Amino acid sequence: MRKMQDYKFWFVVGSQPLYGPEALAEVEKDARKLVDGLNEGGKLDYPVEFKLVATTADSITKFMKEANYNDNVAGVITWMHTFSPAKNWIRGTELLQKPLLHLATQFLNNIPFDSIDMDYMNLHQSAHGDREYAYINSRLNVPAASVYGWWGDADVQEQIADWQHVAVAYNESFNINIARFGDTMRDVAVTEGDKVAAQIKLGWTVDYYPTNEGVAVVNGIAEDEIDAAYKELEANSDLVEGDNDHEKYVHNVRYQLREYLGIKKFLDDNGYDAFTDNFQDLEGLEQLPGLAVQLLMIDGYGFGPEGDFKMAGLTRLLKIAADNKQTALMEDYTLDLRHGHEAIMGSHMLEVDPTLASDKPRVEVHPLGIGGKDDPARLVFTGAEGKGYDITLSYFDDGYKFIGYPVDCKTPEAEMPKLPVAKQMWTPEIGLAEGAKQWMKYGGGHHTVLTLALSEEQLEQLARLFKVDFINIK
Ligand code: MN
Repeated sequence: MRKMQDYKFWFVVGSQPLYGPEALAEVEKDARKLVDGLNEGGKLDYPVEFKLVATTADSITKFMKEANYNDNVAGVITWMHTFSPAKNWIRGTELLQKPLLHLATQFLNNIPFDSIDMDYMNLHQSAHGDREYAYINSRLNVPAASVYGWWGDADVQEQIADWQHVAVAYNESFNINIARFGDTMRDVAVTEGDKVAAQIKLGWTVDYYPTNEGVAVVNGIAEDEIDAAYKELEANSDLVEGDNDHEKYVHNVRYQLREYLGIKKFLDDNGYDAFTDNFQDLEGLEQLPGLAVQLLMIDGYGFGPEGDFKMAGLTRLLKIAADNKQTALMEDYTLDLRHGHEAIMGSHMLEVDPTLASDKPRVEVHPLGIGGKDDPARLVFTGAEGKGYDITLSYFDDGYKFIGYPVDCKTPEAEMPKLPVAKQMWTPEIGLAEGAKQWMKYGGGHHTVLTLALSEEQLEQLARLFKVDFINIK
């Protein structure tokens, strides 16, 4: 897969000239110490670089322009050590095209009761400096995130780390390239969308390919490559032949590995990191890609079934934000409506993301009963437990909207021996009936991304950056 930039974040501390050079030198010393503390705290996955004590409108504007054209700068973190008149920030903030985090913190985490004097107060003005600065962000309606608290605290550093992941995903969104093998499933509405609007609002390139162009690459994969992939599969999962005769089982698993390697090669050679397929358009393939798609999900590629390019982009985007942990395409598959058991069971025909697995995946081969193809191999596993968020992206006459709700994730309360797909249960925190009613009222579809790795706040931050409506049902 295309390698991401080695991203970093720039740090700028706000001040003004009237304090004099000695005070500004102190401001810089404290800011450098703060930045070192963030980098050494062990919570951040991306480094922060101290850049500037900003005292004038011109220096701020120049700084923001430089942040824009440095591709490896994923965002800007600001802190007001002293009072920094916010009119100085207007031009630069309006020009900034990268995510902005206002770190509302103070150098010391206490009031130094014994020693505090007017010299101290001339330097340490975050309490009012932060409000002056935040006012202009609010007035300009820039999608700035904010973290409030002492910079040395672990929870504050974790919030900065979470935002960094959002910022990197936002930057990378403009590099997401989606290959559509075939079109959307016939007659289906919710899987549609405007491809140009997806590029304008979310940065995604959405391109069509005839399925046979992918099939040609699949057919060209060498047997020894499949041998190696088979060995790796044996190491990471249990190969369960079940009722299949040995020869058929091995052939069908190997064919999925051929599809996996072929699709991966096609995507890599042509610069794509997400794709769609459609079970109505499998000419030249022996099986609907199942195991093949699941292995690509483990590798971090985005995927949308039935031609749903919105889900291909959204899975790729959120996998970047989540470092590909526990973030998966889902479909509202079937329901438990009994009082006290209310839950949605999520799954798909085959393509359930193994990053959710709480047990060792089993490779099984079973008939599909749809699409008229050979019995596909797929990974079967049980999903995860914990707090999560389920989100979708729908397209309307007035544009794209994110729709989602916080959910409690569970594993099924009983085995389902006759349903050979991976399974994940969840219940909206607001309740199944209320959550589902609102979901449908707002027009959310049945394809979603379920994440146990990203918080509601991170998803809201992301939606704000894209300036896309986010309907958060809670
Ligand atoms: Mn589906």
